[in-house]
Amino acid sequence: MDVPALLRWYRANRRDLPWRREVSPWRTLVSELMCQQTRIDTVLPYFERFMVEFPSPERMAEAPVERVLELWSGLGYYSRARNLHAAAVALSRLGAFPRDEQGLRSLPGVGPYTAGAVGAIALGLDLPVVDGNVERVFARFHAVERPTRAWTWGEAARHLPPGEAGDYDQALMELGALVCTPRSPRCLLCPLRDGCKGTPDAERFPAAKERKAVPRAAAGAAVWRRGEAVLLARRPGTGLLGGLWELPGGEGVLGEVLSTRLGLRLVRAETVATVSHTFTHLHVETTVFRVECEGEPDARHYDEVRFVEPGAIEGMALSNLARKTLAAAGFPVKSSGRASARDARAKELAAGR
Ligand code: SF4
Repeated sequence: MDVPALLRWYRANRRDLPWRREVSPWRTLVSELMCQQTRIDTVLPYFERFMVEFPSPERMAEAPVERVLELWSGLGYYSRARNLHAAAVALSRLGAFPRDEQGLRSLPGVGPYTAGAVGAIALGLDLPVVDGNVERVFARFHAVERPTRAWTWGEAARHLPPGEAGDYDQALMELGALVCTPRSPRCLLCPLRDGCKGTPDAERFPAAKERKAVPRAAAGAAVWRRGEAVLLARRPGTGLLGGLWELPGGEGVLGEVLSTRLGLRLVRAETVATVSHTFTHLHVETTVFRVECEGEPDARHYDEVRFVEPGAIEGMALSNLARKTLAAAGFPVKSSGRASARDARAKELAAGR
């Protein structure tokens, strides 16, 4: 593998990203956690906001995890936000960033990939990284249909140029993102084309993994208003979507759910929208209801419940699913979700009609 050509290509073609303009272990850690499973375009405004509010681990450690979740709201995979806060607390106690792989791996949420990225990019350690992009580049370069993670880590380590791991790691990931793409790789522009065994049939490598069927579930979400304000609930701090706000509800018969979880008696329910959302392990169809209830909401199943004015919702720590259901009900939140045709009714709902 022509690693010098790969490095030259990277230095001439790398994208201008904020965490590359100014490099520090903290900035690299934040950017790497944000970029996992998420498009870079999506990450950019989040990263800028985080660096303004949390320019150091100490500043984040001083803030409650709820504030980190608020700023993370919409980025998904919220365990990353909780891990980042826990890592900030650990770093603040340590007083300095660890300078070796073992020390990095001891931080909450930091596995081999993140330790490798922070160590190589920000600390100059000779550590490889393997993500989906790197796996694809090596699988194609060697024409291996079913590479194991261990094999790819071995390849990444074998070709690593001492003293240049930061650029080498980023070059492999950047090549996978820009040139050796899953569909229609641009082999004519590739610095590794000499010696690549994957061409001209590169898309064969690696072979597509068998997808397991994702289980499906049905749930309800209740919109109960007092004046303009709507009832929201904060989920318990651990578990799926822990610590995030949402319309109260869940799987099962809505009346029973509201009774068990909030101590409310459902008087009337009207369907206003349905929303689809897929987690990695589950596909959920959520029906949004406008409801009338009797009783005072009691946070039995939640950490907190509160009536919130519509203008204050956007600033809260909301899951992507909560954003979809709130947007489908006509509340002013940003959401990439789409709801069903019944949503014409949602605008009236948000207007309190
Ligand atoms: S030559 Fe094509 S298949 Fe081989 S590494 Fe480059 S882009 Fe990927």
